[in-house]
Amino acid sequence: MDFTPNEEHRLIRDAVRKICSDFTDEYWAKCDKEHKFPWEFHKALVAGGWAGVAIPEEYGGAGLGITEAAIVLEEIAVSGAAFNGCSVVHGGIFGMEPLVRFGSDELKQRILPRVASGEMHIAFGVTEPNAGVDTSKIITRARREGDYYIVNGAKVWTSKALESDKVLLLVRTKPVEECRNRMDGISLLLADLQVPEVTITPIDKGGRNAVASCETVYENLKVPVGDLVGKENEGFKCLLPGLNAERILVAAESVGTGRAALNKAVAYAKERIVFDRPIGKNQAIAHPLAKAYSQLKVASLAIQEACWRIDNNMSCGEEANIAKYLGAEAGFYAADRAMQTLGGYGIAEEYGVCRYWREVRIAQLGPVPQEMILNYISEHTLGLPRSY
Ligand SMILES: Cc1cc2nc3c(=O)[nH]c(=O)nc-3n(C[C@H](O)[C@H](O)[C@H](O)COP(=O)(O)OP(=O)(O)OC[C@H]3O[C@@H](n4cnc5c(N)ncnc54)[C@H](O)[C@@H]3O)c2cc1C
Repeated sequence: MDFTPNEEHRLIRDAVRKICSDFTDEYWAKCDKEHKFPWEFHKALVAGGWAGVAIPEEYGGAGLGITEAAIVLEEIAVSGAAFNGCSVVHGGIFGMEPLVRFGSDELKQRILPRVASGEMHIAFGVTEPNAGVDTSKIITRARREGDYYIVNGAKVWTSKALESDKVLLLVRTKPVEECRNRMDGISLLLADLQVPEVTITPIDKGGRNAVASCETVYENLKVPVGDLVGKENEGFKCLLPGLNAERILVAAESVGTGRAALNKAVAYAKERIVFDRPIGKNQAIAHPLAKAYSQLKVASLAIQEACWRIDNNMSCGEEANIAKYLGAEAGFYAADRAMQTLGGYGIAEEYGVCRYWREVRIAQLGPVPQEMILNYISEHTLGLPRSY
């Protein structure tokens, strides 16, 4: 175990921090309030070369790992950009893993350089209204007709669908009754989004409103067979490396947002005078902040282990899940205690903490809810019987 500070990582942190310093809490509050995609921030990140941080160099990316991507996202979050800021590039990092690992050379040449340059945005369409976390139950269907698939169905919660050119779309290509395994018969397509065959409707939600999440309905959408990622009927396997990466990145975003909240709370606890003394002198205020700090640190260590395993091509299901679980819990605890520290001002939009609190709460719901992570650990690590 070596905890010597890594010079390359320090330089990444400094570079991202410098970009983020031009985007204030007021900027993020305005984007959130007006439901306005932060294009200025996107442009700045692209100029810094961070849109394609984990895309291989041969396709125009920085060729770095999930370790470095997690550092970038944590730094974005801790600046106060929180989940609104991270969502600008989040999908372009984890979402490209299936394409990098399983896409044909032609597809990679055609798509990845445009994602790395920030010109192309790709959304992720997995969740369906009636399937929920049971992905085997998806019913969005793709029927082969000559050189095309014809897609019909509906997805829900597709983030950044309004701004994205394409979507990595999980579809059924074989009825589940004809499959030996319920996760077979599913394929991954890179489909167009901004076409008349797709109807996109933003969902009115309680946080992270600079980036909409949408219902997307597909009616006879044609997708060229060349835009299949991996093999037909084996799409779920192609998705898995991306899902672990996403869990790790969401953990880093949660820790970053928790730290942003904690920083505000600590500053406030030192300055706010009640009963003639700073409120931070009361252990009822100080101890939860110290606990939040400790939990964020432990979550960071879990993230580092998961990053190290995924970047060394080792199995990392357990580690990615634990990182996501601890990150989401620690981030929310920190934001929640920060809100308490600020008293009534905690809920006032002006102070920012309320926005962090709303955004980091989402990490307990998705991309995989905390319950499903505990199900994974119960079954795959502890060997307990599957409960569902
Ligand atoms: C802001 C936001 C952005 C999102 N972005 C995207 C996106 O870009 N693309 C995309 O595809 N999806 C996206 N999602 C969807 C997200 O991944 C799902 O919301 C999540 O997987 C949960 O699915 P569900 O909401 O259908 O919950 P359900 O499956 O209906 O589950 C409801 C609750 O029951 C629990 N539950 C269900 N079964 C069990 C069980 N066996 N044991 C214990 N508990 C169980 C769940 O954990 C959950 O708490 C997003 C969601 C949000 C909130």
